[in-house]
Amino acid sequence: MSARISKIVTIGGFDNVEAVTLGGDNPVVIQTMWKDRLSFSDLAGSAGEGIVARIHRLKAMGCGLLRFAVPDIEAAEVQGQLAAMVSLPLVADIHFDYKIALRCMDFPIAKIRINPGNIGSREKVRQVLEKAAKSNIPIRIGVNAGSLPLDLRKRVGEPSSGGLDRAEALAEAAERELAIFKEFDFNAVLVSMKASGVADTIRANRILAGRTDVPLHIGVTEAGPLVAGVTRNAAALLTLLAEGIGDTVRVSLSDTMENEVIAGREILGAAAELMTAAELMTAELAGVSSADVVSGADVNRLRRNGVTIVSCPRCGRHGFDTHGFTARWLPVLYSMDQSITVAVMGCAVNGPEEAKHADLGITGAGDKVLIFRHGKVIRTIAAGEADKAFEEELEKIRN
Ligand code: SF4
Repeated sequence: MSARISKIVTIGGFDNVEAVTLGGDNPVVIQTMWKDRLSFSDLAGSAGEGIVARIHRLKAMGCGLLRFAVPDIEAAEVQGQLAAMVSLPLVADIHFDYKIALRCMDFPIAKIRINPGNIGSREKVRQVLEKAAKSNIPIRIGVNAGSLPLDLRKRVGEPSSGGLDRAEALAEAAERELAIFKEFDFNAVLVSMKASGVADTIRANRILAGRTDVPLHIGVTEAGPLVAGVTRNAAALLTLLAEGIGDTVRVSLSDTMENEVIAGREILGAAAELMTAAELMTAELAGVSSADVVSGADVNRLRRNGVTIVSCPRCGRHGFDTHGFTARWLPVLYSMDQSITVAVMGCAVNGPEEAKHADLGITGAGDKVLIFRHGKVIRTIAAGEADKAFEEELEKIRN
């Protein structure tokens, strides 16, 4: 099956904002959403510096787009001010009120999420789309299973009893919105169709992917807390990405933005491995040597440089707080560009041996901590010096 090639859309690339291009054979973009409402005072002084630093950290970890809920004009003004302070493209998420969308486009806000079908009169839609076209601001249609148009909602039901399939209803709602964009000849458009169910998410995206070349933002919505949310998103996104469907992902979690980005990275990496395994198996069946198998562009859309973290689950032999250490170092490790493997192991009995392939590792050994490279111990230190020694060794790899 040949991979789906979606239309290319560029987001940002003006004023202080970096350009992010998605669709075509461009890398799949990871995004997340700011979890709280911001005020002007949040952007001032050291609080503002903290917010900017956090956004830079998210970018370094692999976040390509950052969305904010913009429920009123004041929120638009605050986000506009913030958009001028960072290079990461910011997205304004707006429901219903076209005036908020118009105001957002006065700032270096890179993308708008609004559904033209919810804006109201044709004249209001015209104003929003004209300004977006003039300002080079793409728009995402966000269709949600929980807020389908009333007529579709009424028809959703068991197909065997004459009801409309929920996935079909999501795709139809998206197509209605796309028709409005087409009418106004507005092309810089993306679509998301989200449901809290894995099957509905997969099927709705498959349906629309087969009918249009619009870039797709994929993810399971209201997916739950960390473990449940990652599991449900992985089930849906691995399936879609392995089929070549999806241009940007958001792993919605009742958890931090950082964990949403990490989950996105891990899911993309796992999808690339799945696709490579499938290619190798197909080649094997066709009698082609694995050395001659060339990964397609679709696999490369999912791969990125970066650290692979190996950490032991921990058991009664452990002499080192692997869980706390890993949690502390996650943002730093996920911000590195080097493609290395870092191991955090619980004990000296099995740690270095189990993680022989790791470029850098750390493990407990009684009241001491060992640092090892490729299975060989290079430093023995007191537990209190572990973070400092690890940082020094990491620095050597970075430079
Ligand atoms: S490395 Fe040691 S502590 Fe960790 S799981 Fe293996 S045996 Fe247990």
